[in-house]
Amino acid sequence: MWRAVALSIFPEMFPGPLAMSLAGRALREGTWSIDAIDIRGFARDRHGSVDDTPFGGGAGMVMRPDVLSDAIQASRLPGAPAIYLSPRGVPLTQARVRELAAGPGVTLVCGRFEGIDERVIEAHGLEEVSVGDFVLSGGEIAALALLDACVRLLPGVMGTAQSLAEESFEDGLLEYPLYTRPATWTGPDGGERAVPEALQSGHHAKIAAWRRSMAEEITRRRRPDLWDRYDARRKEREIEKKGTTR
Ligand code: SAH
Repeated sequence: MWRAVALSIFPEMFPGPLAMSLAGRALREGTWSIDAIDIRGFARDRHGSVDDTPFGGGAGMVMRPDVLSDAIQASRLPGAPAIYLSPRGVPLTQARVRELAAGPGVTLVCGRFEGIDERVIEAHGLEEVSVGDFVLSGGEIAALALLDACVRLLPGVMGTAQSLAEESFEDGLLEYPLYTRPATWTGPDGGERAVPEALQSGHHAKIAAWRRSMAEEITRRRRPDLWDRYDARRKEREIEKKGTTR
């Protein structure tokens, strides 16, 4: 069983939306589990305080190292990565998600307020991971996003392995456009839109070529960062090929 531990002052946010659909079924079937730990349960005073004012001044509150550290120590999964969800972290990628899903599980520390005391990150060797260049009010939604991405990769959760292999990012490109019936559809603007001819041809190689060229086109236009990496890798592979045939 793939295991997740989430530390939060709002443990009731878990499993939240992950109780539904494919992830929810996998949870009920025991493919994965989630333990939501209430950080407040480790508070040292009767008020249950988990935060304090920042040294150096400034707005907001900071999560106390002593309380949070006790919570982490009592609940982190041995042998699994421990991650602090943080806008300062390394941006989450499909490659990292794949690694996490292949491992035993993950411990997730969800911050609130301005964030957590730096010394907890150091002392517990927490890996900092961001879900994007924007600021959430807490780490819980980021943790749920990370978990959703991992759980769908667990064996048996998604129907066909094929649909996983062909997705956005799996080969460094964004996904090609998708179509289903009807083959011709009249939109609210009165315009008739037909599905691209190549997709209706039934010609396997033609379909693959169309999809590849669309994926490349979309990636180049929307994500020059991904495109540059893809292009560099493609050129490297070509050089390697020439090297081996000589
Ligand atoms: N003061 C911080 C923002 C704190 S937001 C700053 O300026 O960087 C409060 C909590 O939300 C953080 O501790 C973190 O756990 C979570 N969080 C916010 N944005 C996030 C993001 N993009 N990715 C992952 N976690 C995030």
